Amino acid sequence: MRSTAEGLVTPLKSSVLIIDDDEGMARTLSAILAKAGYAVSTAPTGRQGIEVFKTGRDPESLCIVLLDIRLPDLNGVQVLKELKKIDPHVGAIMITGNADMESAVSSLHEGAAAYVTKPYNIDEVKSFIQKAFERQQLIVQNSLLMKQLQNWNVELEKTIHEKTAELKTKNMILLEVVEKLKVLNELKSRFVANASHELQTPMTSILGFSSMLLDYWDKVDHTQITRFLQIIRDEAQRLSRSSRDLLDLSRIQDGKMQLECQKINLKDVANQVAENLRVIKNTVAVDVEFEAGSEEIWSDPDKIRQVFTNLMGNALKYSPDGSNLRVTGKMRGEVVIVSILDQGPGIPADKREKIFEPFYRIHDDVGKRVRGTGLGLSIAKAIVEAMGGVIRVEGQTGKGSNFTFALPKELKSENGNLSA
Ligand code: ADP
Repeated sequence: MRSTAEGLVTPLKSSVLIIDDDEGMARTLSAILAKAGYAVSTAPTGRQGIEVFKTGRDPESLCIVLLDIRLPDLNGVQVLKELKKIDPHVGAIMITGNADMESAVSSLHEGAAAYVTKPYNIDEVKSFIQKAFERQQLIVQNSLLMKQLQNWNVELEKTIHEKTAELKTKNMILLEVVEKLKVLNELKSRFVANASHELQTPMTSILGFSSMLLDYWDKVDHTQITRFLQIIRDEAQRLSRSSRDLLDLSRIQDGKMQLECQKINLKDVANQVAENLRVIKNTVAVDVEFEAGSEEIWSDPDKIRQVFTNLMGNALKYSPDGSNLRVTGKMRGEVVIVSILDQGPGIPADKREKIFEPFYRIHDDVGKRVRGTGLGLSIAKAIVEAMGGVIRVEGQTGKGSNFTFALPKELKSENGNLSA
């Protein structure tokens, strides 16, 4: 029996093995069956019969064994047991004398298809053989189909297993994305609420003081007019700063910031920024020190200056008069690490991540006194990250802050420009 690629089962050749010590009988039967189209072989003893079945049988053919119950060496039931060990589906027809009825019945228990009694009718034998072949063909066919079914089952289980694992992974990714979207959505809502509040506050002052001037122009004196106008100017400047910072931040976050890279000297930038900031506050001593090799970097000078301005500006804003501000640079492998260490109020541990979020401000005693948009650190963070770096803050509350950012020494695309 052979299964084809389509899984169909085609019939095999049919062979008959006669195991009988009556040589005359075996020869006659063999001639008749060969004439009927079967491939016939014979064996005179049980052991020889088992050997022929084991080695001389065509594996491509179905084999029916005509088996004499009385053999010189083994009895027919024993032989049948051995044959079953070789091929569990073997079809056997037992040949018995009247005296062997008991053995014939037990051979049926051992799985023989039928038994014929000597002297037998040849047509009856042929009909038994035919039926035994049909039965065996069905058995083999069933076992092949069973095997095929088992294979399909294994494949199906494997596919189900794989698909289930795939679905689980996709589900997890989907859940993560949904979580991230939720967080982003919350951030966006908070951002919009904060932004409108930040823009609304100076606007309210400008509207209030300008209306007051218009309504009471003839009732307020020159000093008051000057004070009101100063407030209006300061608030307009704050509004302008906020909207400029907002625009910068959204440009960086949308990936629209263009980095124009060139070789720059970080120490020079830090000194220039310190010089510019001295105009705003000169009561804090600034000390700039860069380790050999850490001064030069390939980056965008304007953006780097903005990072220094925001960090050093904060350090000065929040530091008490007479304190020190140290700006240092060192090399770690291919990375430059810049640190801005002040002696101000420091950042509480639970706020060290939050202060980098847009509009987040610490409203402690110092925070109330110092003005700001709450965008400086988010802009610095966005720039540093767009340059492939990282930024963080350390230091203990009350003992100053240490803002550190690390940047790759070479930030260079093929044409020298990098868009973030
Ligand atoms: P702001 O315009 O309020 O300074 P930032 O984004 O620059 O906005 O800073 C966010 C908050 O982080 C500030 O409001 C301040 O509370 C805190 N902060 C930033 N830098 C320092 C510093 N060097 N020392 C103490 N607090 C700081």
